[in-house]
Amino acid sequence: MPTIVSIDDEAEFTRTIQAFFSSRGFVVHVAMTGPSGLKLVEVHRPDVVIVDLKLPGMDGDEILQSIKSQFPEIPVIVITAYNDGGKTRDRLLKLGAYSHFDKPLSSLRDLSKTIKEAIA
Ligand SMILES: [Mg+2]
Repeated sequence: MPTIVSIDDEAEFTRTIQAFFSSRGFVVHVAMTGPSGLKLVEVHRPDVVIVDLKLPGMDGDEILQSIKSQFPEIPVIVITAYNDGGKTRDRLLKLGAYSHFDKPLSSLRDLSKTIKEAIA
């Protein structure tokens, strides 16, 4: 089964991801801090990682760079709550993010589509 690691300090967000994707045939592991999320990635080698940009301990940028250096084949989708005219988005894509979504998520279907593309 395809595996997702979702790293976000908002329990509501990870609950939503877990409920949506586990009912659609994914295994979902969640973490609320950067370091614990990175550990899940190392242990489970997921097919895709969904990471919040703003996290305690280690932020999304650092996690993205760490995953990309250790596991360049794992696509990382970054979720941000910023609206800065695409600056953050461009930086993340340059750092190797597969894709970027704004928070709050407007569509789980869009995220799901992107995840399916990422692991295809
Ligand atoms: Mg956050």
